[in-house]
Amino acid sequence: MRVRTRPERVATLSVPPKPSRSWLNWVLGGVLAGFLVGLVLRGDGDFNPLVDGWLGLSAMWAPVVVCWWAVYRTRFRAVEVPLVAAAVTCFAAGNSYFVLAARGGQVLPVPSLADIGFLGFYPLMLAALAVPAIRQLRHLGWPVLLDGAVGSLGAGAVLAVLLRPVLTAAVSGELSLATVVATAYPMFDLLLVAGFVGIGAAQGRNVGRRWSVLVLGLVAFAATDVFYALLQLNGQYVVGTPVDAGWAVGLALVAFWLDGTSRSATGRVLSVWSIPTQTVPTIATAAALGVLILGSQVAVSTLAVTLAAATLTLAAAPLVFRHRIRLADMHLQARTDELTGLPNRRALYSEIPKRLAVDPRRRSALFLLDLDKFKEVNDSLGHDIGDLLLIQVSQRLGGKLASSDFLARLGGDEFAILLYGSSAERAVTVAETLRSALSEPFVLDGVTVQVGASIGISLYPDQGDALGALLRKADMAMYRAKALRSGHHVYRDTDNTDGDERMRTLAELREGLENDQFVVHYQPKIDLDTNDVRGVEALVRWNHPLRGLVYPDDFIPLVEQAGLMKTLTGIVLEKALDQTKVWHAQGRPLTVAVNISASSLIDLELPDRILGLLTDRGLSPSVLMLEITEDFLMADRDRARAILVRLRAMGTRIAVDDFGSGYSSLSYLRDLPIDELKLDKSFIMSMSGNARATALVASTIDLAHSLGLRMVAEGVESGGDYAYLASRGCDVAQGLYVSGPVAAEELDRWLASRSSLLLPAGHD
Ligand code: C2E
Ligand code: CA
Ligand code: CA
Repeated sequence: MRVRTRPERVATLSVPPKPSRSWLNWVLGGVLAGFLVGLVLRGDGDFNPLVDGWLGLSAMWAPVVVCWWAVYRTRFRAVEVPLVAAAVTCFAAGNSYFVLAARGGQVLPVPSLADIGFLGFYPLMLAALAVPAIRQLRHLGWPVLLDGAVGSLGAGAVLAVLLRPVLTAAVSGELSLATVVATAYPMFDLLLVAGFVGIGAAQGRNVGRRWSVLVLGLVAFAATDVFYALLQLNGQYVVGTPVDAGWAVGLALVAFWLDGTSRSATGRVLSVWSIPTQTVPTIATAAALGVLILGSQVAVSTLAVTLAAATLTLAAAPLVFRHRIRLADMHLQARTDELTGLPNRRALYSEIPKRLAVDPRRRSALFLLDLDKFKEVNDSLGHDIGDLLLIQVSQRLGGKLASSDFLARLGGDEFAILLYGSSAERAVTVAETLRSALSEPFVLDGVTVQVGASIGISLYPDQGDALGALLRKADMAMYRAKALRSGHHVYRDTDNTDGDERMRTLAELREGLENDQFVVHYQPKIDLDTNDVRGVEALVRWNHPLRGLVYPDDFIPLVEQAGLMKTLTGIVLEKALDQTKVWHAQGRPLTVAVNISASSLIDLELPDRILGLLTDRGLSPSVLMLEITEDFLMADRDRARAILVRLRAMGTRIAVDDFGSGYSSLSYLRDLPIDELKLDKSFIMSMSGNARATALVASTIDLAHSLGLRMVAEGVESGGDYAYLASRGCDVAQGLYVSGPVAAEELDRWLASRSSLLLPAGHD
C-alpha cells in the first residue's frame, strides 16, 4: 500500500474554453459552397475564368492550407499529419496544372504532368495510413487483425461493384496508357477506402473520432473518379461540370478530418473514440453477402465476386476454427489489459523471461513507471476520465518505444517497459523522452489535465537475471525517483529499502521518536502591510545520529506508512507550543503554524488533545494555526469537516496549505471554516517572466479576499516577487528571501537584528 503524504506539485487542472472551430474551416466551407453554386449556375460552355479558374483553384488550395495549419499545430509530432498534407498538396498541384492548361483552351493528353500530381496523392495517403497502422497493430492479436481484413475486403467488394462500368469500358475499349491511368484512380481509391475501413475495424474503440468523415471523403473521391473514368473512356470529359466539385469535396473532407483529429490531445490521427468492436466486420459481412446476391441477379465484376467471397470466407473462419480461435482469443484476453489493450502483468511474467533468454549476455533495462497524481485525477474527476487518461498515456508511451521494446500495464497507474538490448545510457535517454511525452497536457473530455510520471530503472544482467529481482529493484528505484522528485532513477545498491534496510530505518524511526531526535525549525511569516513578523511556521527535522539533519520529505512518507503520524504530530505540537510560550514570556506575541497531515484529520480526539496542550501552557487557542493540505478532502470529508469545525470553534485558526496544487474542486472553500490560504510555492516560483503565472497569483489574491480569507504567499525567493506581492495586496509572505526555516535561537537573533534593519529591498 502506498501512502503519499502530499501530492507532488506537478499537476494543474483547468477547463479550457470550448474549442472553437477554426475560422479556416469556415473559409474552406465558404469557398467550396461558392464553387458548387458557380458550377451549377455557369451552364455549359468554354472555360469560365471565375468559376473554373478562381473558385476552382481556391476550392483546391483551401484544404491544403487547412492541412498545413494542422501540421504546424501538431509540430510534426505525428508523421501521418504531414503525409496527408503532402498528399492533398500533390493533388491540388496536379489539378492547378490541369486547370491552367484548360484555361488556354489546351486539351491535355492523358497521362500528362497533371496526372503525376493526381497519382502522387495515393502513395502519400497510403503511407499516412501505414504509419499508425504499423504502430497500433503491433499490439493487436490476430482475431483483431482478422476483423480488419474482413472490413477491408468487404469495402473492396462494394467498391468493385461500383467500379464495374469502368472495368468493362476499359476492357472493351482498346488498352492504352490513357485508359490504364483513368482506371487506376478508382482502383487506388478502392485500396485507400478498404485500408481505412480495415483500420477502423481493427481499431475498435481506439479509432479516430472523425474517422467516418475521412472515409466519406475518400468515397467522394472514389465516386468522382468512377464518373471521371467513364467520361474519359468515352471521350466525354469537359471541364466545368459538377463532377469537378467531387474532388474538391473529397479534399475538403480529408482536410476537415485532419484538422479535427490533429486537435485531439495526443496529436495522433488515430485517437480515442468508441465504436463497438464488431460493427465494421458485421457491416462488411452483410455487404459482401449483398454483393453475392446482387451478382446472382445482374452482372457484377469478377473482382467484386472474388472480394465478396473472400470477405465471407474470412468472416466464417472464426466459426470453422471456433474452438482454436476461442482458445487463442481467451489466451490473448487473459494476457491483455482490457482498458488499454496492452499486455498485462500475466503477459509480462511469461514474455520477459523468454525475451531475456534469447541472448543472456545482451544488456537490457526494465522500467517501472508510475503516474504522479493519478489517484487525485480519479477521485476528483471520476473513473471515466481516469480511464481516458490511462488509454492516452498508454498510447503516448507506445508511440515513443521501439518495436523490440515491450510495454505492459501492471494495473492501476503502473506500467512496465522492457528496453531490449539497451545500455544504461540509452535507458536514461528513453526515460527522459517518455517523461517529456507525458508532461504535455492531456485533454480528457474537454478537461485539460497535466500529470507527471516517475520511472524506476533496473539493469539486466548486472542487477539480476530473474524477473522478480529486476522488478523489485525497479520498484525501489521508482520510490527513490519519487522521493527525490527526480523523475527517473537507475537502481543503486544504496536504494535498497527492502527487507533489512527498511526494518532498520523503521526501528531507527521509532527510536528517534522515543529518544527525542526530532527538532522543530521555524520560518517567519512576514506581514506585507507592516513588514512585521507576527507568526512562524513550525517545520520538523530529524536529527539522525549518523545521517545528520534529515528533512521531512525523506521521512514523512515512512512515518505515514508506519502509522506513526499521530506521535510525530504530538511531538511537533508540544515543541512548537513550548517555544511559543517562551516567546510570549519574552514579550514576543508570535503565532505558530503547525502542519497537520490528512491522516490526522480522521482522529476525532485531535481537538481535545490540542486544547489540552494549549491550556497546559496557558496559551490562547488563537496563537495556534493548523496547516492542512487539500488532500484531506480525499479522505472522510464529513469527519474532517467535523474536526475542523470543532477546532475553529475553540479559537484555533485553519490554513489551507499548498493551495492550488491539488485536484479538489473549490467548493470546500464555501463549506469549511478556513482563515488563510497558502498559495503553493510552485506558483510564486514560476512568476518571474511568466505573465500567466503572475495573473494567476494576482487573481488568487482577489479570490482569497473576496472570500474573507488571508492570503499567504510561500516560496518568495526574490525582492521582485516580494514587492509585486505587496503591491497586489497579498497579506503575508514566507520564503528564502525573508528567511529559511531556522532553529529557535537563530530566529531570535534574526528578529533582534531585524528590528534595527531597514525594510527589505524593493518594498516601498
Ligand atoms: P510545506 O508545509 O509546504 O513547508 C514549506 C516548505 O518549503 C519547507 O520545506 C520549507 O523549508 C520550504 N521553503 C520555505 N521557503 C522556501 C523558498 O523560498 N523556496 C523554496 N524552494 N522552498 C522554501 P521542508 O521544511 O522541507 O518541509 C517540507 C514539507 O514537509 C512541508 O511542506 C510539510 O508538508 C511537511 N512537513 C514539515 N514539517 C511537518 C510536520 O511537522 N508535520 C507534518 N505532517 N508535515 C510536515
Ligand atoms: Ca506548511
Ligand atoms: Ca506549503
